[in-house]
Amino acid sequence: MEFPIDADMLSAALLDIEDRRSWDADAELARAIRLEEAAQVLGDPLLIARARLCQANMRMRLGDISAATEQIWQIHEWVVANDARVLMARMHVLWAYIHQHLGDAEQSLEHALLAVELLDDDCTTHMHIWHRTKLADAFWAAGSMDAARIRYAQAEELAVLSGHPALLCLLNNHAYAEYDSGNQRRAQEVADRLLRLADEWDMTLEPAYLDTIGSIQIGNGRYAEAERTLTLCLERHAEGRWDDANDLSQYLVTLAQAQRGLGLFDAAQTSLDDALQHCIERDLGESLVRLHQEQAELHAARGDFAAAFAAHKTFFTEYQNLHSLQREARTRTRQAMFETVEARQEAERFREQARRDPLTGLHNRRHIDESLPGLIDSDPGLTLALVDLDHFKQINDRLSHNVGDQVLVRVAGMLADGVAAGCPGGFAARMGGEEFLIVLPGTTAGRAVALLDKIRRTVRDHDWHGITRGLPVTVSIGVATSAETPVPTQPSLLSTADSHLYAAKHAGRDRVVSAAPRGYASAA
Ligand code: GH3
Ligand code: MG
Ligand code: MG
Repeated sequence: MEFPIDADMLSAALLDIEDRRSWDADAELARAIRLEEAAQVLGDPLLIARARLCQANMRMRLGDISAATEQIWQIHEWVVANDARVLMARMHVLWAYIHQHLGDAEQSLEHALLAVELLDDDCTTHMHIWHRTKLADAFWAAGSMDAARIRYAQAEELAVLSGHPALLCLLNNHAYAEYDSGNQRRAQEVADRLLRLADEWDMTLEPAYLDTIGSIQIGNGRYAEAERTLTLCLERHAEGRWDDANDLSQYLVTLAQAQRGLGLFDAAQTSLDDALQHCIERDLGESLVRLHQEQAELHAARGDFAAAFAAHKTFFTEYQNLHSLQREARTRTRQAMFETVEARQEAERFREQARRDPLTGLHNRRHIDESLPGLIDSDPGLTLALVDLDHFKQINDRLSHNVGDQVLVRVAGMLADGVAAGCPGGFAARMGGEEFLIVLPGTTAGRAVALLDKIRRTVRDHDWHGITRGLPVTVSIGVATSAETPVPTQPSLLSTADSHLYAAKHAGRDRVVSAAPRGYASAA
């Protein structure tokens, strides 16, 4: 499908990448990039984010973990901010993979748990099976095989019920986990189930699964079966249908193990030579480790202990090389993670700054405009108060603008402290100039007015000598409450508060005016 232009078609094309285990990650990456372009044309942010996550997934499968990490960070914020649940679940599976790659089994497990917790009816069957499989894998990697088994079983039940092809992959992972944890008998049971189901469902087992099955057979001393399994594995690989070109050397080493078990030492040596050739051609450091280890075993089986020792030394060198390469790759990924975390924190700081008044540090008008409508809608017991300094011009004129600033800063602190002490959910903000807004949620008009009057007295009674050389500082306050406003909106409440403020000024300043029955808190 080329450039689907309609959102439904685009979504279906993305789902095809998201929910299918495809063999050609390069081709899928190119396709996901084209789909993102189409989503950009439509201007649909959800489809864009989905296309990007598909790309990240493919980059990860291609081994470029740091590029995958960067790309997930790019959409992380949008996904969280927009509560895009299904996508968030998919994102957590990728984070689980990445942390696994970083060697952090605990973090990986946490993400895998979230990926399962976020599953709901909107998620596809594939997700239900796959996310439980990944959770099981994460438990296994964290050393909790019992917890892993429960999730493998849940995933298996779902997959059997729905006849979903993900069953094969999940059984492969489960079998390998049992094998790796040293439970050879259980591993064999799962491997047998995998073989039987592939047969019943008439599905071709991919070479990697056959390699798992062969390894388990070797672990149980069933060398002849293992040799047959690996021979089939190599035939399948030769068909070239699978995205496993680099894995050939692994299959050859497993075959060599089976041949060694059968006493076919020459055949085993030939398999290892082929594997080595393949590793050299493709520069596969990772495979070399297992190869040299098996070479040492083979020499020892033949009684050639000097050669076995030499091979073991080579194994050890390769092992160290591999680990330093892995360390480098992990450092790159961590770097990608860290840089973007830093950039995000920086952006967060700027955003916060944009909502603060630089002189007083209080919230500013923008913060008010963003937060007030939501508060008004959700809180029937909301009180707003406009606070204006009395004769402030005099302070500026008689002293200095600088002194005026100091007064503003001091008053702002008093408002903030008064609100924090009397109404913890509330806040004070600077509207502009020498005018402030106090927001008191979840309170009655009477309690709000009492608190505001207390704040008013705190300002008046403060010893201003040090700043204003005796010139008094007072405030007038106009109050509005949603309970007393027929249709409480930001404009209607602010307008009521403003007219009450005007009334307070008119009545002589240094007072609180509200619509409450005893709303006239006079200067006392
Ligand atoms: P009223 O009691 O009627 O409110 O009298 P007022 O003098 O406070 O009246 P008005 O609102 O007209 O004056 C406000 C003054 O506040 C005018 C302006 O120069 C001053 N002002 C506004 N912003 C700032 C500021 O950031 N710093 C300082 N120092 N002064 C400011
Ligand atoms: Mg004033
Ligand atoms: Mg004013």
